[in-house]
Amino acid sequence: MRDSWDFRCVLGLVLAFSVACLPANAHDQTRKLFLKSQQRRHARAHLLESTRTAADSCQLQLEIVDAVTGRPLAGLVRLTDLGQKQAIHLPELIQRENDWYAADAKSSIKVPRTRLKLEVIHGITSLPFEQVLELQELDQTAVKVSLQRFDDPSQRGLVAGNTHLHLMRLTHAEAYRYLRIVPNADNLDLVFLSHLRRIPDERDYISNLFTDADLQRLSRHGVLFGNGEEHRHNFGRGGEGYGHVMLLDLVKLIRPVSIGPGIMGTGTDGLPLRRGIREAHHDGATAIWCHNSFGFEDIPNWMSGVLDAQNIFDGGSHGTYDETFYRYLNLGLRVPFSTGTDWFIDDFNRAYVSVKGKLTAKKWLQALAQGRSFITNGPLLELRVGESKVGDTIKRTTPGTLEIVGNARGRVDFGQLELIHNGKVIHGFKATRREGHYQAEFKLPVEITASGWLALRVSGDAASNAFGKKPFAHTSPIYVEMPDQSIFQPAIARQLIKEMQQSVETIDSKGTFANDQERSRVLQVYQDGIQILQRRLQEHAAGSR
Ligand SMILES: [Zn+2]
Repeated sequence: MRDSWDFRCVLGLVLAFSVACLPANAHDQTRKLFLKSQQRRHARAHLLESTRTAADSCQLQLEIVDAVTGRPLAGLVRLTDLGQKQAIHLPELIQRENDWYAADAKSSIKVPRTRLKLEVIHGITSLPFEQVLELQELDQTAVKVSLQRFDDPSQRGLVAGNTHLHLMRLTHAEAYRYLRIVPNADNLDLVFLSHLRRIPDERDYISNLFTDADLQRLSRHGVLFGNGEEHRHNFGRGGEGYGHVMLLDLVKLIRPVSIGPGIMGTGTDGLPLRRGIREAHHDGATAIWCHNSFGFEDIPNWMSGVLDAQNIFDGGSHGTYDETFYRYLNLGLRVPFSTGTDWFIDDFNRAYVSVKGKLTAKKWLQALAQGRSFITNGPLLELRVGESKVGDTIKRTTPGTLEIVGNARGRVDFGQLELIHNGKVIHGFKATRREGHYQAEFKLPVEITASGWLALRVSGDAASNAFGKKPFAHTSPIYVEMPDQSIFQPAIARQLIKEMQQSVETIDSKGTFANDQERSRVLQVYQDGIQILQRRLQEHAAGSR
């Protein structure tokens, strides 16, 4: 699909790495991290040049393998000078957060001849490896690191995907190397690299230049790459507008990729995202709402059933589970949990999806849309209710007891494992340290008297992960259906109607429309959503009379 990008030829000139002007479209948090890491990179590089010469350096040959299979593993490496108590800059590798660097299974690194602490991890399931290296007298040395795992989700048929990624301000070769090494080091199995547009910043969006042939070539290195587009509308540069939606596994770009003068500097606000979502669906693509609560069109699009999954924590920190997932689920909707990282991979964010047989992007997306997922940046979750798994619906004819089995495992302390019933925590189980990692598990009967849903999450309040982020994890629900009644909380429906009415007012006052037809095309999306909920409120009132 990538042979006809509009502005491919405009690019390709200079993609020099600099911190001089950062793109304002990146979400604030990501932008800050990007800036911080680049400043650090420059500062350290300078320090390195001034202090490390050939005479006082040692060439470290590092090899990382899986302790059980012996298979070579890309990994994350951190080296600390124990004398100066300072992490060492490693220009040969790819810098990540918290002084970690992504490395191939075999790498050659120039380090100072001193006493160093070597730390290595792979993804979220290896036990941390640590070794002190005495390099004072050595010109060169070789270290082979065998990493133990406390869990291997691939053995349960789980596939880790990042649904939201773009790269900027790298050369094509640098971006290719980043994509070849970083997802492997993080133990991702599938990455969707998405196209997006903003005038004039898009000249630095190097990921837009990756063709389907590039993605196929990248897919030979152990991680599958899929394509996508971030279809979006903002009022102003980064202000809230209709919102952002990922359209994944496309046969062609859905145009216009970005809508409105806020992003493109030209045109009108006369198209809803709904139109693009429908066109992408027609082409067999999947639509995932981005940035959780950011944007106006999430609510009406969920009410009309045109979205396949919902992203949270994919760049920025918009809202909570309660503001989106739990409200929709408590109206009886099916809402699969999904995540990604947006600009660069700055955390371990991923959706694990249960896929049978050979992995394809389409299969993974279908299973995600069926709700066979959990999201995490560390802790691994398992939930079973009797024989039912995440994404299943349990049909009961009478109230009764369900036996629920849950567990969570993580490298760092994730606080407590929580059992959620209809949005409320009904049980909490503290994580305890076991064989080098943290674990919590339970098996208990829960009394079910009405339709609803069950899920697991972690509180994530105890420690930070390797990248300095608080751990999160949440399963998609297991649904429970009783005859003649679905879960429906009228107060939520009334609140969502109010929010959609407010969106209509905001759009009416901020939007630029060429004519009444454009205005009504956009506002109709919200009117449909309001109508759906008003009808459901009436049905609910009639049913409970
Ligand atoms: Zn994005």
